[in-house]
Amino acid sequence: MSRSSPTDRDLVLSRLLGPAGPELSCEECFDQLDRYVELELVGADADCAIPGMREHLEGCSACAEDRDSLRQLLLSEASE
Ligand SMILES: [Zn+2]
Repeated sequence: MSRSSPTDRDLVLSRLLGPAGPELSCEECFDQLDRYVELELVGADADCAIPGMREHLEGCSACAEDRDSLRQLLLSEASE
């Protein structure tokens, strides 16, 4: 008699997945990437300004690479 009720399991699952926040597509990510990196570089709260971006970058290596190269670009421009 150790059958757990579906309701409990759904609750655990939804906690694991977190709140249903906005999920960025790669296209939306790309649109916001400039702003996100600029905010990061000036030390602003980029995650608060663009919700869902960090989650997308953690799950999407292609966009994470774009972010890294854009950051390098901005940093090299700033040092000239
Ligand atoms: Zn992506």
